[in-house]
Amino acid sequence: MSTEELRRQVVIIGSGPAGLTAAIYTARANLNPLLIDAPVDTDRQTTPGGQLMITTDVENYPGFAKGIEGPELMMQFRQQAERFGTEFLEEWINKVELSSRPFTLHTENRIVKADTLIIASGASAKWLGVPGEAKTPKGFGGNGVSACATCDGPLPAFRNKRLVVVGGGDTAMEEATFLTRYASKVYVAHRRDKLRASKIMQDKALRNEKIEFLWNTGLAEILGTHEQGVTGVRLRDTVSGAEKTFDCEGVFIAIGHKPNTELFKGQIEMDAVGYLKTNGHSTATNIPGVFACGDVQDSVYRQAVTAAGTGCMSAIDAERFLDHLPVEMPSGEEITIEGERITPDRKLIIEPTGEVISNEPV
Ligand code: NAP
Repeated sequence: MSTEELRRQVVIIGSGPAGLTAAIYTARANLNPLLIDAPVDTDRQTTPGGQLMITTDVENYPGFAKGIEGPELMMQFRQQAERFGTEFLEEWINKVELSSRPFTLHTENRIVKADTLIIASGASAKWLGVPGEAKTPKGFGGNGVSACATCDGPLPAFRNKRLVVVGGGDTAMEEATFLTRYASKVYVAHRRDKLRASKIMQDKALRNEKIEFLWNTGLAEILGTHEQGVTGVRLRDTVSGAEKTFDCEGVFIAIGHKPNTELFKGQIEMDAVGYLKTNGHSTATNIPGVFACGDVQDSVYRQAVTAAGTGCMSAIDAERFLDHLPVEMPSGEEITIEGERITPDRKLIIEPTGEVISNEPV
């Protein structure tokens, strides 16, 4: 039974770069944020700190000229958020009620009431579940297997090497094309004989001389040793079922991502894949007072630095909302905490009573 009740002006869900940046900003704004994140759970693949906790060298996060390890970077973020008084709670959230403010979150042991909610629950790369794919030492994850070419492609382990990219969508085309900057050869293994990727992305990859397509090909196993890392893969012909060993030194799984938004289904507007909808100018969702930042609302950039940037935006949006100032909604209208709506052309204010008044300066 949920017993203890907490009430906060700002509740943040998720402790990746987006959630922790939102925490740093709202804590410095004296809003005493509570940050809730799932506990470590290997079965459900949750790690507080998000995807960077399973990343080794981060070479593209500005401010670290020599690079930094993913877990170390997230520890720095967390300590900075703690320094200004962020409160942390590691508990599963079982249910959210967003139909009225304060919003209600039911965790395993508590009921949390929130005047504003910042969702930074992230996205997870999809994995195939084949032998050899798990994180080292169980498999070769982090030792030749990756799900992020931008993060890992430039590392020495992948330079001038034969790499296999799995997938046939835009992500696979983008990752394969990016990897040709470093690899000696990139093989795209796709389970069908037709790509799902958009035409322009297909054309770029098909024309790239360093990319070769392996059609009707599934990945059955990743092979290697702990000393050498990946040495090859076992490929399966998806039509005949025949299997063969194929030499390579790196594998990139690029079969898509899954935003962590199950909890909000039916309550917040999302796209067909499940990414929360914001309008690009602000991080407001369709529910006044609920903001979304980081990978949970971004299927395109998905970088630590862009996640941190949108975390900052969410914090500023929540601060504005709590200060009774208008915040832009996905519809283009602005809304205040009192429920005043400003039309997208900024010319009219519609009061909660329905009265319409001019927004022109007097
Ligand atoms: P996606 O479009 O869902 O494509 C996933 C690909 O992986 C498909 O080709 C699928 O094969 C394959 N796949 C899925 N599960 C598999 C499995 N278990 N075994 C083998 N193959 C598997 O995902 P995405 O490429 O990440 O794209 C997601 C969205 O982001 C799209 O809307 C895309 O346009 C967008 N995006 C855009 C850009 C860009 O424009 N720069 C870049 C990245 C992503 P099947 O085709 O056989 O189903």
